[in-house]
Amino acid sequence: MKYLLRTTFVLWMTIVAAPLSADDVILVPDAIFDGKSSKLITGKAVLVSNGRIAQIASLDSLEQSAAEIIQLPGQTLMPGLIELHSHVLLHPYDETNWNDQVLKESWAERALRAGNHLKASLEAGYTTLRDLGSEGAGYVDVGVKLALKKGVIPGPRLIVAGKAIVATGSYGPKGFAEHVRVPLGAETADGMGLVAETRDQIGHGADFIKVYADYRWGPNGEAMPTFSEAEIRTIVETARSSGRYTVAHASTPEAMRRAIMAGVETIEHGNAGTVEIFKLMKDEGVAWCPTLAAGEAIAGYQGWKKGEGAEPKRITDQKASFTAALKAGVIMCAGSDVGVFDHGDNAWELELMVEYGMEPVDVLRSATSVNASLLHMADQIGQVKTGMLAELIAVRGNPITNISVLRNPTLVMQGNIVLNKN
Ligand SMILES: [Zn+2]
Repeated sequence: MKYLLRTTFVLWMTIVAAPLSADDVILVPDAIFDGKSSKLITGKAVLVSNGRIAQIASLDSLEQSAAEIIQLPGQTLMPGLIELHSHVLLHPYDETNWNDQVLKESWAERALRAGNHLKASLEAGYTTLRDLGSEGAGYVDVGVKLALKKGVIPGPRLIVAGKAIVATGSYGPKGFAEHVRVPLGAETADGMGLVAETRDQIGHGADFIKVYADYRWGPNGEAMPTFSEAEIRTIVETARSSGRYTVAHASTPEAMRRAIMAGVETIEHGNAGTVEIFKLMKDEGVAWCPTLAAGEAIAGYQGWKKGEGAEPKRITDQKASFTAALKAGVIMCAGSDVGVFDHGDNAWELELMVEYGMEPVDVLRSATSVNASLLHMADQIGQVKTGMLAELIAVRGNPITNISVLRNPTLVMQGNIVLNKN
């Protein structure tokens, strides 16, 4: 594996870096998945100039004078993958449970771990992550994002939520005596206080707002709605006034309904979503991040071995909701909740989307052009198209017939930086 940082001579991590003489690169794959088309495109090469896709044409018709040519035999070139639900400040719960990560790990440790997680994500072909809350680490996600922007550490583009908003009494860590105050995994606010909290999170660098529309706080610890529809609308409108959108953690049909009607743009988890709720999402143009991999990971931590014994209820439920959402024609995000499981293993979500019944090419679209649109970045990333940022990966073989090839990209291009594992 080698990293090449173009235009500047740097030593990046422990891997050999070298300057290249040419400013332009021509990538010559066997095929291209452009992020939208249902079929691979063959017979074309891609000229990258100044970090953007300058031309897509047959190799002999490209301006080649000063360009370095990277041959990608047997490989498909496609847009860099986009993850819509990550937690770079968390690591797998079977290593350290969530409570202990929030209460016992220093913010320094969590930031350092995030650096490792980001490197793993980039090497796995992910060039953009939407990070869904710092989970008790304040605005460390904003700081990590700024460090990435300065080139302090390698990693995908990070789009961050900051602290996220929860209703008083609902969120964890829980289970302490009444005289013991513990820091929570998100910030509490209610009623008209939501205006100030939303503005505060914006002021601290949140790129979007995350609200927990339900949480496990029912009489028996079951998920129940938290905020009223009007409260969620207050958040949405406050965020919107600043040019930001809101997303909702919601598993129950009622919390999903409130969040949809209040104007959030994506619903996270939604594993108890019903046919009626998914129809409503389709009608309102609200997208769904099913986080299937997190569901399977947690079931595994609780002792389930896939393919053996009875399927846990949460898996049966998430399969049923996924089928219902597909049938309703809901916009499907690719969002895994990575952090619950290993960073760099994000493509597990894409494999599960195929396993649960989605057309492989639609899954590829979700992880590229659809996710880009949901980030309001459709004109910059998510497609192999002239004028777009050169955030590209190459994979062996055909990702439409074998989604698992996404697990091992042979090349990751991030503007002028090339990570080449050929
Ligand atoms: Zn999450």
